[in-house]
Parts: sequence; C-alpha cells; structure tokens
Amino acid sequence: MSWKIPLSDLNFGAEEEAAVLRVLRSGWLSQGPETEAFEQEFADYLGVKHAIAVANGTAALHLALLGIGIDSGDAVIQPAVNFVSAANMTVAVGALPVFADICSLDEPTISPQSAQQAIEACLAAGGPKPKAVVVMHYGGYPCRMRDLEALCKAQDLWLIEDACHGVGASVAMSDKGVVKLGAVGDVGCFSFFANKNLVTGEGGMVTTNSDELARKIRLLRSHGMTTLTWQRHQGHAATYDVVEHGLNYRFDEIRAAIGRLQLGRLDENNARRRELSAAYFERLTPLQDDGWIFPFQIQQKSQQECMASAHLFTAVAPDTATRWKCTDALKEQGIQTSLHYPLVPKFDAFSNFALNDEVGVSRQFCERTITLPLYPSMVKNQVTAVTRALIEATG
Ligand SMILES: *Cc1c(COP(=O)(O)O)cnc(C)c1O
Repeated sequence: MSWKIPLSDLNFGAEEEAAVLRVLRSGWLSQGPETEAFEQEFADYLGVKHAIAVANGTAALHLALLGIGIDSGDAVIQPAVNFVSAANMTVAVGALPVFADICSLDEPTISPQSAQQAIEACLAAGGPKPKAVVVMHYGGYPCRMRDLEALCKAQDLWLIEDACHGVGASVAMSDKGVVKLGAVGDVGCFSFFANKNLVTGEGGMVTTNSDELARKIRLLRSHGMTTLTWQRHQGHAATYDVVEHGLNYRFDEIRAAIGRLQLGRLDENNARRRELSAAYFERLTPLQDDGWIFPFQIQQKSQQECMASAHLFTAVAPDTATRWKCTDALKEQGIQTSLHYPLVPKFDAFSNFALNDEVGVSRQFCERTITLPLYPSMVKNQVTAVTRALIEATG
C-alpha cells in the first residue's frame, strides 16, 4: 500500500549515497575506523565517556543487562508500556521482568511511585531480587529522571535508559544541569532502526561513563576476544585470547558512515519534529472537550526543563471503539497510523509472569492510543490534513 501520508519517512541525501560508495570502495566493511569515528562523535555529542556501536537496539539492551551482570534470580523493573525488547532481553539473561505502571495517560512514562511499589512487592515476595530499573523515554519525552535516579540510588539498583526514542533529547538534573538522554543512568541504549530519529537501517549504541562497563560490553560485543580483526589487520596484534563468552553484535562501516551524517542532521530534524508536534497540539485542542488526551503537551511547552526529540506524536482516544473508528477512517484517506504499543505483560509469552497486575493506567493507554504521522520532511498542510481527518472521524 502506498500511503498519501506515511507514519514516518527517511531523511537521506546525496551525502549518504556518497558515503556508502566511499566505504564500499575503501575495501574495509566490518567494524573499523568509520565505526570508531561514529562512536567518538556520538559520545562527544551525548557528553558521555563511552559509546559502543552494536548491531541493533535489542543487542544494546542485551549487552547492557549482561554488562552489569543481571542473572537468573534477579528482577528487572520496567514499564508495561514499552516495545517488547527490554522484557525479552530480561528473560534472555534469565531474569524476571517486573512491570511498573506509567505516570498517567498524559505522561506515559514509568511512574517512580509504581516502580517503588514493584520493588517492594519483589522484596516482600522474597523471590527474585530487584537489581535494575529500565526506563523508556516514550516518544522522546524524558522520564522523571530526578525521582528515578534517587530511587535507584536509595535501593542500590542499576539505572538503564532505553533511549531508543530519545536520541538528542535532554533533561534537567538537579546536580548535573542539563543532560542528554542516555547519559543520565548507568547505561543508555539506542536503536538506529529505519523509523527512528537517527537512521542507519539496523544499528544501535550503548553509552556509559563507566570504564569497567564499557570494557566488558566491548568484549561481549565481539565473541569476548581481546583483539579485533581491524587491529590485527593493522598489524597491532597477531593473535587473541577469549576472556568472556561473548556474542557477535558488531556494527559495520557502511552503516557507521551513514550514522555520522545522520548525527549531523539530528538537531535540525528534532527541532522540526518539535515544531510539527506543536502544530498538532494546537490544531487538536478542540478534541480535548470530547475526552481526547494529547500526552506531553506540558513538557513540550516547558523547554527549559527538558528538550524532547519528539519521536512520536501520540493521541489517546476517549475509548477503544473511537480509537479503531479513527484508525480505519484515516486509513481510508491514505493516512498511516500505528500503535505504540500493545501492553507488554498481555503478550502470550509473558502470561506466566505473576508480579505485574497493577498496571491499570498502562492498560487504558494501550487500549486507547494512536500514533499519528510525524517526520522531519512532513509539512504543516499534512498536519492539518491528518488533524481534519481525525476530527471528522470522531464527530
Ligand atoms: C526500536 C526500539 C527498540 C529495539 O530496537 P531494534 O534496533 O529494533 O532492536 C527497543 N526499545 C524501544 C523503545 C524501541 O523503540
């Protein structure tokens, strides 16, 4: 199906084409100098000590959990409104995902209070021991990081940021000033999948200020080997040892070259996304009287407190029937919508996890939410067209 207004669109130019050819002709394709440059530039951009490029965002989460030593017998607190990656990777390392609720329909990020309750429920049950909290910056709007950081400090838990929506966004912290998302917690995880704000097709990044974590994650990324093919190619090493049971989650040079250019476009693209989101908020105001909710409107307005990457524009319908009526009506007009996300603990594969019943707000959100088209090359007329279609469908 070809959409009149797609959900998202790429922002590639002649520079990306030239970069791909340049790398292709260089004769070196797997992780090498281009990847190292991308990692350095990403780390500098984020203001973080280490950035480690990996195969995708899920690999980033897997390596984060392995790097901090999450194991069987551990519980990982995480939001019920999320992409399934964090929960799947929690299970992959043998740990138990414990779901916390979101703050409200207006702010669908993990509630610090609900996270606290989930920790207490784990401790009371005497089962798996809470070891980490994974937060997810829904739509590129920062979670309540000051409270979440304090909670993790008080409970001696690791703080992992799933910043897949939040590349380039930032939040004001009380002691450190304004910090980029992915640089607040112990580890940050990013995806460069084709519909994200920074695109390499497949791809991801792990960020951390910890030398020890970075060392371990670099090893785990490439078979636990002490030297890389690139280092041996340069004559820096003749052989290697294997010191961890690692994986192959390496990145490659073609995608690194694309990533470096996309990083250069990021701030401008994110600013455009914020502008379009503001236009959506303004044009959709009349629907608020009919029970519609447009999350993060307050965060969007108070830009000194936080700067969103505005990855998604989400609307919460008054009820599920209206949600489906509207997605159908928009589809009729060639407007693509999506749904971020079905509730994670409701998936069949998670039906055996007991400690996750108290997520009523998350359930409401997942039953009523719609994601509307948003991408940097979108024009205001298209925002108007989507808005009109939605208002007509509701009436
Ligand atoms: C995209 C995404 C992921 C997974 O990234 P992949 O690169 O597709 O593996 C994880 N979490 C969130 C919130 C995402 O949006």
